[in-house]
Amino acid sequence: MNPEVISRVGAKWSQVTGIGELMEDLGHALTVDPEMRMLGGGNPALVPEFMQAAQQRMAAMLREPEAMASLLGNYDPPRGHPRFVSAFAALLRSIYHADFEPENVAVTAGSQCATFFLINLFAGRGRGRKRHKILLPLCPEYLGYADQGLEEDIFVACRPKVEWPAGAGGHVFKYHVNLDAVRERLGQGDIAAMLVSRPTNPSGNVISEDELLSLSDLALRHDIPLILDQAYGVPFPAIVHVPVKPIYAPHFILLFSLSKIGLPGTRTGIVAGPASVTSAVASMTAVAGLANPSLGQHLVLPWLEDGSILEMGPRWLQPFYNARRLKAREWLEEAFKRAHVPWAIHADEGAFFHWLWLPELSTTSREFCRRLKAHKVLTVPGEYFFYGLEEDWPHRHQCLRINYSGPEKVVREAIHIIAREAARCH
Ligand code: PLP
Repeated sequence: MNPEVISRVGAKWSQVTGIGELMEDLGHALTVDPEMRMLGGGNPALVPEFMQAAQQRMAAMLREPEAMASLLGNYDPPRGHPRFVSAFAALLRSIYHADFEPENVAVTAGSQCATFFLINLFAGRGRGRKRHKILLPLCPEYLGYADQGLEEDIFVACRPKVEWPAGAGGHVFKYHVNLDAVRERLGQGDIAAMLVSRPTNPSGNVISEDELLSLSDLALRHDIPLILDQAYGVPFPAIVHVPVKPIYAPHFILLFSLSKIGLPGTRTGIVAGPASVTSAVASMTAVAGLANPSLGQHLVLPWLEDGSILEMGPRWLQPFYNARRLKAREWLEEAFKRAHVPWAIHADEGAFFHWLWLPELSTTSREFCRRLKAHKVLTVPGEYFFYGLEEDWPHRHQCLRINYSGPEKVVREAIHIIAREAARCH
């Protein structure tokens, strides 16, 4: 390609991005490199009970010729299939006891696509000369947002407070939102929206109800939306290991996904919030892709209509991931004890990652993960998750994310290799 004819956006997106590299590695490991121990990516596990339910539902769909014809042969409206959108609005009414109508809902091709639309709806040059930014109240935050801006430099992030919960043996830390820092950054007047994942990818942190309500209050005072990414959270798939209540206010934009319940291949995300926002999202879908994939919407429709989608997390997913989480913790203890290396993990409150902190790592996390890859262990370097910070922070080079949802033998072996390699880089 002649670089002279490439746009700025084209140049930005055609280079290797963090998320691009991660998805490339993930796809490679899951298809052509079975030797690789895959602790990278955000692929959910194939939870047997869920897979069985999904297969039964697919079999039932195949026996409905009219539904199949509509599923395969028609474009849906850009907002989503009307029956899905209505059922979703009804489900939200029952959960949040708030006035959700179909015009408050819009489907997207995965929630990754939803954040792409929303980030660019709010961030960048506005009508005046001001450049609007997105504030991440708690950094580290999901790396998938990092490269989504059409314009450069659209994120600012606040460094959290780090605490060591009592009784956790000195190997567990927890991030808390630094509300003073958030308040101060909002005061600069260039923030168009706040964005937070709950549980947070990568740390597995669940920001507390108090923290969320304080952020809500600040957003309201500054007349900006609070985008709440619930890809792993309540009300579904509810992969949370602490009690979490679904919370909503009219200035929230809620993001949902069918991926972590077990259907990432269907590419289905859902945005719920003010009608002006969901209409903008539907328009963007029409421009970018005409309509959304319809398989996921059809597949889960009866589960929305009878509410059973809300039971799958507590009944099948959480117990599965909880068992993995505890086992992975045991293996970390065992491996690092043997390696004699200081280590800690973030309080594992939700999602399916351990966020490992090696405070005495003698190299960067990127380099460390490169070394692990040479030993056939795939993890994600911490640096990717610390974008938007206005100052450097050594901590950003000392963490890595481990997805513990893979086969037990693989996760255990990989953890031992990580500890052994940490001893060499100590
Ligand atoms: N949000 C968070 C916090 C995630 O971890 C992910 C995927 O890992 C996504 C959004 C995107 O998910 P999807 O596009 O599959 O719905």
